[in-house]
Amino acid sequence: MIHESYQIFAQLLLEGVDFNDPCLIFRISPPNAKIDHYNFSLRSGYTCPFAKKCLTKVERDPKTKTSKLKRSPSSEFQCFSASQELMYPDVYLQREYNENLAKARLKSGGPVAFAKSMIAAISENLSRSAKYFRIHIGGDFFSKTYLDGWILVAKAFPDIVFYAYTKSYPYFKDLSLPVNFLITHSLGGKHDDEIKQKGLKFAAVVMSPEEADSYVWKDKAGVEHTGLEIDHDDTHAYKDDKPFALLIHGMQAAGSPASKAVSALKKRGIKAGYSRTDMKRLPTGELPK
Ligand code: SF4
Repeated sequence: MIHESYQIFAQLLLEGVDFNDPCLIFRISPPNAKIDHYNFSLRSGYTCPFAKKCLTKVERDPKTKTSKLKRSPSSEFQCFSASQELMYPDVYLQREYNENLAKARLKSGGPVAFAKSMIAAISENLSRSAKYFRIHIGGDFFSKTYLDGWILVAKAFPDIVFYAYTKSYPYFKDLSLPVNFLITHSLGGKHDDEIKQKGLKFAAVVMSPEEADSYVWKDKAGVEHTGLEIDHDDTHAYKDDKPFALLIHGMQAAGSPASKAVSALKKRGIKAGYSRTDMKRLPTGELPK
């Protein structure tokens, strides 16, 4: 059984858990105040090989138990899930645990071993009424074999819609996904141009509602459109095939354009994300992105 408390996770990680132990099970997070679906996360930044404008990670010293945020020189806005990991050590440790276990399963038995463990965790955690499952609030598809594992998982639960935001476009390129595995390409990565050229479904971070209104994009047929709807609750990620916008929110580097945009939205009374107070009301172990 996996325990939820930070102390237990910290103890496991500091004392060196054997991630080859077949009894270990992935930590699935329950629905929270913003995302009404079960979800699974890895550490932000560490598992995002194609991230660029968002690339941020938390560096944690297990001896001193202190953490600091490290932004890539290419970063233009800060990854909100990395901010969560900085603010809440239990979130970071849970994701590190999941990441280590995923890599151990892939190393020992490839996508099949990963899928077997994930199928067991989902079967144990999800209620029968669950219709959607979000792959990654933090983290991304860090390898093709990891993605192959998730495809097997989706095939095992045909009545559940698995959805994810991703910057790992090269792994999805020319891949045929099960009908219950939905992907939104998240702009701000290394392959934005290809994604836009192909008219694939994307999510773009915008600095204001006006930027969303005037956003020009092309569909698969090459027809030009203006304007993106702004998503506030994740529904755009699975309700249809149209691209959409996410308003900038969360902690941003002081003085950066992103930080100024967040301040401007606050002054206008536009709520684009969760405050620290809102986060404290959420269940331990998972927070909104
Ligand atoms: S926004 Fe997504 S891709 Fe970028 S660093 Fe965060 S988790 Fe990784």
